Amino acid sequence: MAADEVEVQDNEMPDWSAYRGVLIVVEQREGEAKKVSWQLLGEGKKLAAKLEVPLLALVMGDKVEHLAQEAIYYGADKVYLCESPVLKDYRTRPFSRVCLQLIDKVKPEIVLFGATGTGRDLAGAIATHLPTGLTADTTELDCEPHPSRLLLASRPAFSEKMMATILCKQYRPQMATARAGVFQAQSRDTSLQAEIIRIENPMKEEEIAARVLDFIRETGSINLEEADIIVAGGRGLGGPEAFAMLKDLADALGGIVGASRAAVDAGWIKHEHQVGQTGCTVRPKLYFAIGISGAVQHTVGMTGSDIIIAINRDEKAPIFQFAHYGMVGDLFKIVPQITAEVRKK
Ligand code: FAD
Repeated sequence: MAADEVEVQDNEMPDWSAYRGVLIVVEQREGEAKKVSWQLLGEGKKLAAKLEVPLLALVMGDKVEHLAQEAIYYGADKVYLCESPVLKDYRTRPFSRVCLQLIDKVKPEIVLFGATGTGRDLAGAIATHLPTGLTADTTELDCEPHPSRLLLASRPAFSEKMMATILCKQYRPQMATARAGVFQAQSRDTSLQAEIIRIENPMKEEEIAARVLDFIRETGSINLEEADIIVAGGRGLGGPEAFAMLKDLADALGGIVGASRAAVDAGWIKHEHQVGQTGCTVRPKLYFAIGISGAVQHTVGMTGSDIIIAINRDEKAPIFQFAHYGMVGDLFKIVPQITAEVRKK
């Protein structure tokens, strides 16, 4: 729903005073949370502070109480926990029913999901049951304070050439999915305490037609957003063969291979490895930028990394402005040396 489609005068603003709070829907698989959930709690905390409301989290699954506790360590003021064997694996109907029941009862003014496969599916399913919009794949979130209390959800538009800020003026809750890696989680603080409220799972197994038989991970598929170490290569690699050298270093470090768009567009590596504006936004502990110049469309996707090491033969390459450590020289000489040193350890 674009802002200009729902233009209303302030004096026409409905009374939304029953809706308060920012709700983050925590995503997990087999008891392990997706990092984007904690990143959303970090961003949600800022929105909640601006609106002077509590930050709420919803944790759903089977035997996931530890994640409710984690949500508190990452800043939630109150956690709703729904545990049931029915929720062991993600399925749209039972998970969306839990969310809808909670939204109806608690009436949060903002609900945020990770823009992952699961988050997109869940948020979309919920939006179809509520008279509200959903802004998908946002990369910036802000809000106007009282009285409008509008969520300002921004995302790239027109082939990533512009940022569009999308408002939901006429309905509550305001809902958005947000890209992984864009926002920063607050540091995990085990001294934080908050209430965990158990809620009932509304669906019985017999009511659900879909069964999860197994999860099959596509051979060779990667998850850059969850990676702690990324070894990324660009046009400087000169061809697809050199990515084997990067894979060697990545394997030695326990990381995965990333790439610039130039390398992806050249067909040297699959798009799922691309970091940047039209690829993934990543926040690893360690990011190698090898033979990558540092164009803004690339750096926008990786400057949240804890440590950036750049290897480039051009000492004036912009990537050095973002790197914590830089090596000027030929990547074909430097990379095998680093790999050999790492393997010695
Ligand atoms: P180059 O800019 O060509 O840099 C290659 C570097 O390798 C140079 O700095 C060179 O000095 C170095 N080099 C060469 N040989 C060696 C050697 N032997 N040893 C050491 N260094 C060497 N880009 C992305 O990455 N991600 C995106 O998501 C993305 N989205 C985009 C969206 C839009 C709308 C547009 C317009 C562009 C987008 N781009 C994106 C493209 C971006 O603008 C750059 O063109 C791209 O990032 C350049 O990739 P590169 O750094 O690998 O190549």
